[in-house]
Amino acid sequence: MVQKFDVIVLGAGPAGATFTLTLKNSGLKIALIDKETFPRDKVCGDAVSSIAKRILRQIDPALETELLAFAPKTNITKAKVYSPRFQSFEIGFSKIGHCIRRIDFDNWLFTKAMQNPTATFFGNTKVKEVFTDANKAWVKLEDGSILESKVIIGCDGAHSQVAKKLAGFRVDRKHYSGAVRQYYRNVKGLTGDSLEVYFLKGYLPGYFWIFPLSNNEANVGFGMLSETIAQKKIDLKESLRKILEEIPEVRERFKDAEALEDVKGFGLPLGSKKYEISGHRYMLCGDAASLIDPFSGEGIETAMESGKFAAELVLKNLAQDQFLPEHLNAYDERVYKKMWGNFKSHYYMQKFLGDRVWLINKLIAIGNIPWINKRIPKAFY
Ligand SMILES: Cc1cc2nc3c(=O)[nH]c(=O)nc-3n(C[C@H](O)[C@H](O)[C@H](O)COP(=O)(O)OP(=O)(O)OC[C@H]3O[C@@H](n4cnc5c(N)ncnc54)[C@H](O)[C@@H]3O)c2cc1C
Repeated sequence: MVQKFDVIVLGAGPAGATFTLTLKNSGLKIALIDKETFPRDKVCGDAVSSIAKRILRQIDPALETELLAFAPKTNITKAKVYSPRFQSFEIGFSKIGHCIRRIDFDNWLFTKAMQNPTATFFGNTKVKEVFTDANKAWVKLEDGSILESKVIIGCDGAHSQVAKKLAGFRVDRKHYSGAVRQYYRNVKGLTGDSLEVYFLKGYLPGYFWIFPLSNNEANVGFGMLSETIAQKKIDLKESLRKILEEIPEVRERFKDAEALEDVKGFGLPLGSKKYEISGHRYMLCGDAASLIDPFSGEGIETAMESGKFAAELVLKNLAQDQFLPEHLNAYDERVYKKMWGNFKSHYYMQKFLGDRVWLINKLIAIGNIPWINKRIPKAFY
């Protein structure tokens, strides 16, 4: 039995949910498939920038209002960046961002997406095979059933089947990071409104973070470029343990803290390399398209934005069945026009700082001089 849809979306994270949400009133028959059921966790720093709210507002202003009323979350107004010497400087944000556990944020977004009356969710279902030919696209689920559509949208994250099988992507360690996360309660000195980012001697290039969550909890983690992890044979979980236990300034903050889970890790496909993110009856969004900021590691907003762009192109091209590479190329152009400038400059920043302890110490010391600090413009967040 083949079930027919207009679009098949693989993955119901921020990219897939935003795609489905954007087409809420389109009448298009959408199959949204995820190997998990919701609510589901995603290993992440849980920092949701103000850009996510702008994207929601563009889809429907009521969504932003709802997100703002949504608890539990913290309101983030600044970031505090620490040098290896533990000097810090503070950078204010021009717009308020949030820290929201992904289990909550993704479930909220998924619930909104499922208000699309013509979307059907296939949860707890792994996609085993993905195919496209001249006239159609289809997937085979693990129970053997087959879904068919005009186009497939790959929103299936860092280990995307669509990216591997249809676009032929392979992990490029120069443009890929690994990171670990652990939730904590009662970390000393949490301000509740500030992201904390630490460049630590012996743990560069990469950074350690403490992001404040509601209920006096924190998202704590450490990430590094995969190339360095492989070259130096670094065990990220062990590195996080050492940072928490062996660096006196950090140890002091965690002495009465309680770990709420085991350390968990996941990959980050970075946007520092351009890929062809569409092809024969498919488009890739979010992590599947390798759209994570190469410096900050943020990928929620780019996942949402690319999901929205893909949805808008599907709506435009469906009537004429225009899903061949020459028709979908407009998607690549739009995504990179919007994101490539940032990705490129943040990649150069990542390379420039590298593991140069003295340089990071110097820059943060300069940023900390009061009359200079006063003049640093607020960051867009
Ligand atoms: C440790 C860490 C910290 C991070 N911190 C931040 C941060 O603070 N802020 C930020 O903006 N970004 C952060 N990121 C990046 C962010 O998590 C991702 O960019 C974001 O989740 C991308 O969304 P997505 O929808 O593309 O993919 P995902 O959120 O990964 O969603 C993909 C979905 O596809 C499903 N799926 C996968 N394979 C299949 C299959 N074969 N069949 C069916 N379903 C499938 C999965 O179950 C999942 O639900 C971090 C990442 C890591 C690893």
